[in-house]
Amino acid sequence: MNYRKSMMPDENGELVIGGVKASDLRAKYGTPLYVMDVDFIKSVCKAFKDTIANCYDGYGYVAFASKAFSCKAIYAIMKKLDMNIDVVSSGEIYTALSSGFDISKAYFHGNNKLVSELEYAVSNNIGVVVIDNIEEIDLLDEICAAKGIVQKVNIRTNPGVEAHTHSYIQTAKIDSKFGFSIENGDAMQAILKIMQCKNLHLNGVNCHIGSQIFDSSAFRLAVDVMTDFILAIDKQTGYKVPELNMGGGFGVHYTENDPKYTLDDYCNYISIIALAIKDAVSSKGIHKPRLVVEPGRSIVGESGITLYSVGNIRDIKGIKKYVCIDGGMFDNIRPALYQAEYEAVIATDCNSKKEEIVSIAGKCCESGDIIIENINFPKAKRGDLIAVFTTGAYGYSMASNYNRNAIPPVVMVENGKSDYAVKPQTFEDITRNDNIPDFLK
Ligand SMILES: *Cc1c(COP(=O)(O)O)cnc(C)c1O
Repeated sequence: MNYRKSMMPDENGELVIGGVKASDLRAKYGTPLYVMDVDFIKSVCKAFKDTIANCYDGYGYVAFASKAFSCKAIYAIMKKLDMNIDVVSSGEIYTALSSGFDISKAYFHGNNKLVSELEYAVSNNIGVVVIDNIEEIDLLDEICAAKGIVQKVNIRTNPGVEAHTHSYIQTAKIDSKFGFSIENGDAMQAILKIMQCKNLHLNGVNCHIGSQIFDSSAFRLAVDVMTDFILAIDKQTGYKVPELNMGGGFGVHYTENDPKYTLDDYCNYISIIALAIKDAVSSKGIHKPRLVVEPGRSIVGESGITLYSVGNIRDIKGIKKYVCIDGGMFDNIRPALYQAEYEAVIATDCNSKKEEIVSIAGKCCESGDIIIENINFPKAKRGDLIAVFTTGAYGYSMASNYNRNAIPPVVMVENGKSDYAVKPQTFEDITRNDNIPDFLK
């Protein structure tokens, strides 16, 4: 289990998160419940920023990829920590704005930003629009011309490095829906086109090579391709691209199959990227670009656990045993979506002996609604409190009302205090936008 100071069992074996006992959280807020350890989030952000300060002379930013976890409270934390953010929709921009976040510190990503979204972003002084498609260039230039604005833009490139959890491949052709290929010249063409636009200012070049990456050599390789590209732009146009944005994708610990990374290990991703850029600056003779990284999962993932209560046990003798919980794919779609794996404990007795192989099943009407398949687990019974680890990223942000289940509330904890970051949904909330068409009445 991935314990740390702000999330570990007490002397009675009960899980304590941010100084609050799991059973107290259930008593106060019920289950299913997302719990976020604020101390962890703050520590990672601070460590990432310090790494840029120490390894790259502070010449850069850390932008939290807020698609991993978006709500007003997280933007309030990011504001307090003077972080930058990524956003990918008007909904995220609206949420950030309504928390008081200054979105001139935001990067707006997306492979198909709607015209309405570009207009909304530009009107609210978005920091940087990350161009992802050749059509977007004229579209955005026109929008900015109409508003009399010169907009900072980056382009999302495709460096031909595709990284997965434990390996990466280098390929010339990536069939991704994101970004301009560097290899086939699309990226350079986009750069030249942007430089001709009166209302766009080329601020930087981006890449994002994958997610849940542990192999840092993939980042080194991507830096090599990206700095070659910066050099090529300089040679062809004389323009020194100010910013190099290396994206996110830093791997985190879900199960014992993943390395157990400390904060220092996390920071290594950024120091390796920073050193690779510094090397390229001296060996290739390019200018030193501003460095941006965009971690999402590594900032919030391990901060989160989900608490569930056990209901029915379904024991198909000699075949399979299910421990059914009061949550499921509506609060965590990742196992059903891409076979994501998790670890869990009985939160009131973390050290209890593992006695049997069970599957922890959600309550949705889908056979695939299994949160953990075949986990070695203590004998669980109705009413037990289960904690599933590392659910802070892409859990709440991907939640749905499937089967008209309420999306669980999110509670943030820190130093013995707890409060809602997202309140519980009521039936009223769930049916708020329902309408019976007049012709059916
Ligand atoms: C998803 C994404 C990120 C964050 O990825 P993590 O794996 O959560 O760190 C960063 N940048 C871009 C462009 C992304 O699409």
